[in-house]
Amino acid sequence: SIVVTGATGHLGTFVIEGLLEKVPAEQITAVVRSEEKAAGFAARGVKIAVADYSAPETFDGVFAAGDKVLLISGSELGGDRVGQHKVVIDAAKAAGVALLAYTSAPGSLKAALADDHRATEKALLASGLPYTLLRNGWYNENYTEQLAPVLEYNAVTHAAGEGRVSSAARADYAAAAVAVLTGEGHENQTYELGGDTAWSFGEYAAELSKQTGKEIANNPVPVEVLTGILTGAGLPGFLAEILAGVDAAAAKGELVVSSGDLSRLIGRPTTPIEESITAALKA
Ligand code: NDP
Repeated sequence: SIVVTGATGHLGTFVIEGLLEKVPAEQITAVVRSEEKAAGFAARGVKIAVADYSAPETFDGVFAAGDKVLLISGSELGGDRVGQHKVVIDAAKAAGVALLAYTSAPGSLKAALADDHRATEKALLASGLPYTLLRNGWYNENYTEQLAPVLEYNAVTHAAGEGRVSSAARADYAAAAVAVLTGEGHENQTYELGGDTAWSFGEYAAELSKQTGKEIANNPVPVEVLTGILTGAGLPGFLAEILAGVDAAAAKGELVVSSGDLSRLIGRPTTPIEESITAALKA
């Protein structure tokens, strides 16, 4: 079977949809925390397994020998994500799966946010399992789903300076995962995934101005100022620092991925940020 954890998340949902186009539903297992949230998948014949990364015993019997597994990284920032991911790796190892693919972060990213991913990669390699590292670059949606404050203040406030970001749509990264899970020859490969074009925040503000017909300013600020804005908006301190740290990394060019791996894996160009902006403004 093909087994996908985090299946009810944004990325996981695209992965399940993509798999359903390629393989019979009964060959797909969605690992979820909430059976209720997965009712739509179940109705289409996808097998459901209920398990939580924080409860090792819930993974008993979830994997079988020969399975191809996609471990979608957890979303509980500030929690023990590495420990959670190890639970999945250990269970996959015990079952003898044929492949464990993991959604990681770009090798170029040195910010704190990458630490959990580097530690998980290390654990995965140490397991001796056949692996695929899907080092996902940034999602277009990280920006285009956060337009409310931008449109309220008519400004793109960031701490990325002139840094560029080669983002792509979540659906593009999901399609890459589907290609790996349904294709051959991806064992022990590391893919550096990013959008075909990198944009700067100034260009992003200009595109938003163009599409909204409003004057949306590019507002670069120092990292400490951004951290303050984020905590002022109610984010916990550690999270504000992680997010501002991502902008600082972008300023240093760490969010540019120019390998071409993503468009090569999916066999088409990646989704430009312009297209995701259009979709977000329509939504
Ligand atoms: P989502 O937050 O939509 O999905 C996260 C998924 O992880 C959900 O299905 C969630 O389950 C599941 N999950 C979280 N904690 C646990 C747990 N303890 N046990 C089992 N499942 C758990 O994120 P996306 O789908 O958009 O992105 C996937 C992952 O990629 C994120 O979790 C994060 O690690 C990373 N990411 C990458 C970004 C990028 O730009 N490259 C941006 C943001 C995140 P449930 O559905 O029950 O909530």
